[in-house]
Amino acid sequence: MPIGSNINLEADRRTFTSHLECGLTGERAEADRVHGLSPAGRPYLVRYDLAAVKAHVSRDEWDARRRDMWRYRELLPVRRTENVVSLGEIETPLVPLANVAREMGISPDNLIVKDEGRLPTGSFKARGLVMAVSMARELGLKTLAMPTNGNAGAALAAYCSRAGLEAIVLCPEDTPEINVREIAAQGARVYRVNGLIDECGAIVGKGCEANGWFNLSTLKEPYRIEGKKTMGLELAQQLGWDVPDFIFYPTGGGTGLIGMWKAFDELEKIGFIGSKRPKMIAVQASGCAPIVRAFDAGERHAARWENAATVAAGIRVPAAVGDFLILDAVRESGGFAIAVPDDKTLSAVDDAARKDGFLLCPEGGATLAAYRAALADGRVAKTDRVVLYNCAIGLKYPMPDKSKSLDKNANIDFAAL
Ligand SMILES: *Cc1c(COP(=O)(O)O)cnc(C)c1O
Repeated sequence: MPIGSNINLEADRRTFTSHLECGLTGERAEADRVHGLSPAGRPYLVRYDLAAVKAHVSRDEWDARRRDMWRYRELLPVRRTENVVSLGEIETPLVPLANVAREMGISPDNLIVKDEGRLPTGSFKARGLVMAVSMARELGLKTLAMPTNGNAGAALAAYCSRAGLEAIVLCPEDTPEINVREIAAQGARVYRVNGLIDECGAIVGKGCEANGWFNLSTLKEPYRIEGKKTMGLELAQQLGWDVPDFIFYPTGGGTGLIGMWKAFDELEKIGFIGSKRPKMIAVQASGCAPIVRAFDAGERHAARWENAATVAAGIRVPAAVGDFLILDAVRESGGFAIAVPDDKTLSAVDDAARKDGFLLCPEGGATLAAYRAALADGRVAKTDRVVLYNCAIGLKYPMPDKSKSLDKNANIDFAAL
């Protein structure tokens, strides 16, 4: 069925958004208005009339719908179907890392990757940006701006072009080349900046004041969380309305971790799952681990990480405005935050590719490396069911050249090939 005739988005559907709430103070704000950060300078969370959702929809109904993220429309903020800017946000598969697992003496059922690289623009940023851009259209915004380490900018560019909105994207000058080019190819104005993502974000903030752009930075508007929340709704549904023991999530701004935690809470309140929760594990790189440092120090806010450096560009985020939401979720879940060095990340990528034919992105590789470290130190048992998030398609990243050459005019020694 083509996207235009999506049964998950019939025109007369009911919506259930009741209001917005500051994630820190609980201060309320009206839905259906343009919002950035709350007066406290913190992210807003979207709230729904969950009692009404519970009365309106059943697990069977969600199970029967087409498998894309719009099947969860009762828990999504877009009011009018014509504002949805879909590029086909499919359900992403759960893929066991069977050979890697067996080699460690683990059942393949206990080491599963949720492969988000299958989404439009090749990363899970599509989930957040399709929602933010759809809401921007609904609220009448015209020009959207953001800083990016690559994948968010690409998703913003794609959905803005699709929706007929303007996109302005600033990225650190060492952002992977493919990301910078795909952003431009998909119609955004993209600038390389000699600084890190938070420094790009500061320029975006000034541009919004000077030029009236709308600021779509991570968690500085309320709707990217709602898009990323669908990772949690989808995972629970795929597991037969259950949750795994652990979720290993590569954490930059933390939108996905915060979103999934919110998803499980909403699912319990509408009676679709029980009170069991996965332990949420925030995975960072040793070269940029502000959340891990704050977790270990018992703090609720994370200080900026100086001289951030890692091959996993998507998690090179020195300071996160939703730090307390990440840390709260990790602690409430009984989970932990863990940093892994780049060499372990790269050897995890190499392992999964050679042994299981699964090309993880470096951020996904970091989750496998973190899982191994947590197994080794006893924080995870071999019998625990673990889901790792692979957030982007591995093909977007540089790969080492391991090929050799053959001369077609020479005598080929086939025994040596
Ligand atoms: C953005 C990104 C992350 C981090 O996601 P957050 O939800 O913002 O923490 C991880 N991996 C990849 C590939 C990304 O693009």
